[in-house]
Amino acid sequence: MSATDPIYLDAAATTPVDERVIEAMLGCLGPGSAWANPSSDHEPGRRARALVDRARAQVAARIGATDGTIVFTSGATEANNLALKGVMELAGPGAHLVTTRIEHASVLDCARALQARGFGVSIVDCGPDGRVSPDAIVAAVQDNTALVSLMHVNNETGVIQDVDAVSRLCRERGIAFHTDAAQSLGKLPLEVSASGVDLVSLSAHKLHGPKGVGALYLREGRRLSRQQHGGEQEFGLRAGTLATHQIVAMGLACQLADPSSEAGRLRALTDRLWSGLAELGGVQLNGADSARAPHILNVAFAGVEGESLRLALADLAVSAGSACASDTPDASHVLSGMGLGDALAASSLRFSVSRMTDSGEIDRAIARVQFEVTRLRALVGLCAPGWCSARQIR
Ligand code: PMP
Repeated sequence: MSATDPIYLDAAATTPVDERVIEAMLGCLGPGSAWANPSSDHEPGRRARALVDRARAQVAARIGATDGTIVFTSGATEANNLALKGVMELAGPGAHLVTTRIEHASVLDCARALQARGFGVSIVDCGPDGRVSPDAIVAAVQDNTALVSLMHVNNETGVIQDVDAVSRLCRERGIAFHTDAAQSLGKLPLEVSASGVDLVSLSAHKLHGPKGVGALYLREGRRLSRQQHGGEQEFGLRAGTLATHQIVAMGLACQLADPSSEAGRLRALTDRLWSGLAELGGVQLNGADSARAPHILNVAFAGVEGESLRLALADLAVSAGSACASDTPDASHVLSGMGLGDALAASSLRFSVSRMTDSGEIDRAIARVQFEVTRLRALVGLCAPGWCSARQIR
């Protein structure tokens, strides 16, 4: 990034691609590289296939999958669609799905689409700390529940959900359990074989891979109804010629993103940011700090409208919420689900970091936010009814 680029604190939306990943992608694109169709039964095809196989193993290793299948998709959105529709359609008409109010749109929209087709759907609320209680999930389960879907880390607040407990409870009841791990991959340890989760959605671009590639992990023995027809690629679950360069990139991105070496540093960066912002007073951390993923910090600035703050901070790339919901003027469904009023939800910003963020950027961001929040608060004071003067506003 050049010195004039904004300080990038929006890693939960996407991350810059690692140079090593770009190099690996180029190794699958140009003449003399592994550009052949990995499904072709000739030497160049088999060469590409070997790279796809290695990438599959790298993704499996990152999530501790010792069995089952990694199905490459175009991202976590498609993986979520494949998981929810795939399980529910196979379970058949009348089957019931349990998910939560704080899920990503790609889960919630799927749930609504399934409901419109006659499937039963229960949406479980979270507490004020952003956590969904495993008991509340169990309470929503019915005799015909085929699937429970609970995200691992919320993309707006960074709050970590107790997927191990919910996975165990589902297993005891013979219900499939899916988790959207787009935000936790490479940031938190994920051991699917140990935890017993059946389906896991993943995305490459949140961990310095390219956009347009992700995967769904499917536990051994679990079946899905296919969502894309046209070929037998990806175990018959996702038709279409494999994008070797994207897949190879995702494999390497997974290998490079090791939570055991990254999480502590990411957490130190967001902790430093939080203590700097807290000096302002009138700020609130949205979501339980004790259950916060290392790379995300969501802060409400009382007395300041988040959108105005974001616009004033043009030299900082931060988000008012999820990038996928940035076209809608509505308050964040996650923050309102946690009970934040409209004003506080609208005064909130999400800051998120990656291994390419450094502490100097955090310190500059703290100074900029402190300055703009103080200025905007003063402006609100100046514009109190009765004594607002255009001359006083600079
Ligand atoms: N789930 C979560 C929790 C996410 O944060 C995102 C990305 N915003 C997605 C799903 C969608 O991922 P993708 O962009 O790979 O489709």
